[in-house]
Amino acid sequence: MPYVAMARKWRPRSFSEMVGQEHVAQTLKNAIATGNVHHAFLFTGTRGVGKTTSARILAAMLNCTAEGEKPCGECESCKAIAIGSSLDVSEFDAASNSGVDEMRSLLEGTEYPPMNSKYRALIIDEVHALSPKAWSSMLKTLEEPPPYLIFILATTEINKVPATILSRVLRFDFKRLSPMQISKRLAFICEQEGLEAEPEALAVISEKADGSMRDALTIFDEVFAYSGKSITAESAQNALGIPSNALYFELVKVFEAHDAKGSFAVLEKAMAAGVEVQIFLSGFIRFLRNFLYAKIGLSAEQLEISQANLDSLKSLAPAFEQGDILRIAKIITELSEKCSAKHGLNPRLLAETEFSKIAWLDRVASIKDVLEKLQDTPPKEENQKKISPATQSTSTQTAGTTGPSGPFRLTI
Ligand SMILES: [Zn+2]
Repeated sequence: MPYVAMARKWRPRSFSEMVGQEHVAQTLKNAIATGNVHHAFLFTGTRGVGKTTSARILAAMLNCTAEGEKPCGECESCKAIAIGSSLDVSEFDAASNSGVDEMRSLLEGTEYPPMNSKYRALIIDEVHALSPKAWSSMLKTLEEPPPYLIFILATTEINKVPATILSRVLRFDFKRLSPMQISKRLAFICEQEGLEAEPEALAVISEKADGSMRDALTIFDEVFAYSGKSITAESAQNALGIPSNALYFELVKVFEAHDAKGSFAVLEKAMAAGVEVQIFLSGFIRFLRNFLYAKIGLSAEQLEISQANLDSLKSLAPAFEQGDILRIAKIITELSEKCSAKHGLNPRLLAETEFSKIAWLDRVASIKDVLEKLQDTPPKEENQKKISPATQSTSTQTAGTTGPSGPFRLTI
């Protein structure tokens, strides 16, 4: 059997299968149930969040001959819409047909009542791309539509839709999906498909999908093709060119050991695996965020990571103060910005400089510790000599190998 792309196979066929757009689904279901159907809808939101899918579901619900809260999928109308052969539901991509002539020919058929259904539905994708003339051509029909005609417009750029159109449509704002919502849907799909996937692997995919369910499923296909039926975090990372988590653990450990050279070696390993500096850094920022939240007690579920990963983060946590993690995150964030700015500097050199900074300027005692030490220590002459230089400056820096044995500290 030929492989069917997940995005196609798992495209929702009813509002109850839609993820993250419950507010839209509920309003549309109510409108259909009460027969109070507006003649023009505008779905707006970022790509891949379900606008066109919802438009198809809406058109199918309006024309389904069966009773019920969702399209039956069995009647002639439902079947025709599913395979894109319905004569009464037209889909039009304004991005590639933005001119007035195309709009006119689309509207031509609308003077006639539907052939086999109750409504004639015009689904216009990327509607913001229409030319001014195409807009005015559409406006006439939008102002006085025949009773059987429904417009369903979709756009990713609502700001480009003219006010004259906006005032005549019922607008629905689609939300970006959270990584948690995407992971949950992916887990459901894996279960149905008989695939095994580590929660962390799904988290990797959902994070890369950046709010889009369609992208998540396309990325999932890519990972599945690489990993086979058992998808691990590592296989997902390898398939997507995302650095392995193990490298970040290693990096944090070499920072803790004040080993600048070791940090260069970790960077080298990432680059040898084909990971770009920029991608390595953004992954590290995410790692530090998880590290910080693990330290303050968030659960694996809240962080969308595996329990094993959380346990490893927790085992590292006592060596670092929260403030230190935040400071490292700040340095890495600034470094990442520098690397993405086009000033011609070599990202690897920039990264090595900042990594040295983290590794070298760290083993310093905090003022609080010094004061505590002063209070606890009897004022013997020998001790006075040791501590007095520290009290003269704002920070006390001691050599890496002979520094305090307490938690990792960072003063920059
Ligand atoms: Zn039906």
